[in-house]
Parts: sequence; structure tokens; C-alpha cells
Amino acid sequence: MTTFAVEVVYRGIFQRTLSRNICRGIVLAARKEGKIGTAFGRYGDSPERNGIPAKYFAVVADDQLALEETLARYEPTEVDVTICVDDTMCKGIESWAWYGLQPINALTKQGGTLLVVSKQAPEALLEDIHRKDVPYEVGIISGPASFSGLWVYKDDHTDVRILGALAKVCPGLAGMDSYEKVIQDVWKSDPKVKSARRSHDLTLRRPIEPAEGNTSTPFSFSKPGWTEMRQALTITGVPQGGGFRGGTEGFQAARSEVFKKYSTRTMRPVINFQTCTKCTLCWLQCPDSCFDVTPDSHYDANLEACCGCGVCADVCPVDKCVTMVNEAQFNDNASQYEWFQRDQAGYLRWLDGVITRQDAEARSHGLHHWGQYKEEIAAAAASEGSR
Ligand code: SF4
Ligand code: SF4
Repeated sequence: MTTFAVEVVYRGIFQRTLSRNICRGIVLAARKEGKIGTAFGRYGDSPERNGIPAKYFAVVADDQLALEETLARYEPTEVDVTICVDDTMCKGIESWAWYGLQPINALTKQGGTLLVVSKQAPEALLEDIHRKDVPYEVGIISGPASFSGLWVYKDDHTDVRILGALAKVCPGLAGMDSYEKVIQDVWKSDPKVKSARRSHDLTLRRPIEPAEGNTSTPFSFSKPGWTEMRQALTITGVPQGGGFRGGTEGFQAARSEVFKKYSTRTMRPVINFQTCTKCTLCWLQCPDSCFDVTPDSHYDANLEACCGCGVCADVCPVDKCVTMVNEAQFNDNASQYEWFQRDQAGYLRWLDGVITRQDAEARSHGLHHWGQYKEEIAAAAASEGSR
């Protein structure tokens, strides 16, 4: 009796269609080989929200009994392949249902594969991926994170490229021929078959030993067990906010002590405090009340609260005063304003570099403006043609 389980870790809403397509493709390909399987999203207790990590699963088995045995559990306890469709989640994942930070490879079984869509080298990713005490491998499908969400589907072939890579790293699940037939059946597209095959051939594989990876302890906190909870259903209110970082001037909204954002976003805002006109729009419009008002009336994005939605960058009326940049280049949630106060010239130099890198990368945090996907697909096609 053989059972295979695959999880797709994706950014809620922004990548839901992408993950669903991948899991359906896996099950359909396995069926071509006489196996049975099912694909399901897991967010019943983990509300799906823009950018917040969520999971989709595909489980495939030789027969009905084996499949039902796996499905009797709430979700697979270990998986043959973990697919990470945004490499910033290699830092760990925080959904509303996991209390703290879950390493991206937590469910990846011994000898299994963590498949990541990324432009980064394995060594760079390993600085983020937490250490595991068993060997496994990392597979890299070269490319930027694709944000194909609930509202709009950006058909940049990331779904079929992942299916092609799966045939390489986990051939027992389904072979390349089966994936090709499914791609033809579902998408009726020769270019998509070609993309899957190309990805199958080019996916980079790197064995990982237990000694490798990020040694830091993932953020966690303990919850009361049901015998320790207060009687009746009560929800503790968040106390009123106080002064900036505990001081007497400025203002900091009160926030949860435990629900903090570390890997929740794919991009983060960086602020140019020198060009900021203190118009208050970012502070007013941020859906998570992230902006702390400093004693001199600047607005400092509190990154423990920021989900990376990009609203502040959209509403800011000053050019490049708020810029969304790739989260992968940060390892902490330090205050940008405090750095600016300590060393204005150094901060502005850093800001300039980080924005220049972002312009070159053209990373997107979701849907930025109407027509964005059309522009990105045209650019991707042009770069594919020039290779
Ligand atoms: S990206 Fe900006 S608007 Fe969105 S949560 Fe973060 S600080 Fe708030
Ligand atoms: S929206 Fe821009 S200019 Fe206005 S306060 Fe925020 S950062 Fe400053």
C-alpha cells in the first residue's frame, strides 16, 4: 500500500488559484496511472486573508482504503513533497491557526523534497530554512513568486512548471507522461506542456544534511489548555495605546503581544522620512493600524504588525516615499525610524540601494493596479524569448 502526500504552502488569496491548480493537476495525473487521490484546501480554522500563509494538500494512494486511512486525520502529519510558492515563506509560516512560526519544512519527511519557486541559490535559502534533524532535499524551480489569486489568474505557467518539477523529484507520485496528458486535457496548451518539460529538465536539486539550515528557534508561545481556560466565552480587549515606544509623545496603537508578523508578508514597506510630508494617509489607510506616530509626527511602519498589503505605498502621494521591497532581504523587524534617527545619511544610502534593487527585480505583492498582470506576462514572455 503506497500513499503520497504533497502540501502547497501559499499566500492566502494571492496564490490560491495557483495552489488549487497544482493539487488538482497532481490528482488528475495520478489517476492517469490508476491511482486515486483527492485535493483539498485547509483553511477551515485558518481564515484566508491576503498574504497570510495557507495550505492546500493533494493525497494520492493505490487504493481507496489507503486513501481513507490518510484522510481520517485532519491533515497529513508528514508529506513527501512540500511546495513553497513564495520563497519568502522559507523563513517559516504563520497562519492564524498555527500559534507562532512553523518551519517551512516541518512536515517534509525524511528523504522528501522541499520544492521552492525562487531566484535564490540553495545556500541563500538555507539561511532562512530552519534546520531539520533528518536528511531531505531542496529543489529549486527558477522564477519569481507568482501571485495568481482568487480574483484574477495570472497564467505565467508556474502551475505546470511545478508539475514538471514534481515528476522529477517524486516520480512515484506520477510520471512526466501523465502530467503532460493532464496539461493537454485541462489547459489544451502546447506551450504549457513545453514549460512543464523544461522545468522537469532544469529543476535544481540539492541534498540537505541535518547540520544545514537556520539554527534560530522559531517564535512560539503557549496557549492555555481547555482545562485552564476561563469559564464562559470571553475575548480580552486590547488595552488603549500609549506614547511612541512607551514614551510620552507620539502614539503607538496597542497590539496583541502574541500575534506578530515575521514571515507573513512577501514584501515590506520602506519609508523615506526625509521626503515624507506627514500627510497621515498611510496611518489612516493601513488596514492593520501598523503606523506608530513618532514624537516629531513621522509615521514608522511597525513591522511586527505589517502584513505587507502595500496599501500605504499606494496611497502615499510622494514619489518613492513608501516603497514595497522584497521581504527576503530582511531578517528582523527593526524600526526604520530609529535607524533614520541614529544615522540619517546611512539610512538614506541603504534606502536608495534597496529601492534600486527592487526596481530591477520588479517583484509584486499581489494585485497592484488593473492591467498589471498583462504587463507582467508580456515582460515574462519577452525575457523567456531572449534566453
Ligand atoms: S504594507 Fe503598509 S498598509 Fe499594509 S499592513 Fe503594512 S504598513 Fe499597513
Ligand atoms: S502617506 Fe507618505 S507622505 Fe503621507 S505620512 Fe505616510 S509616508 Fe508620509
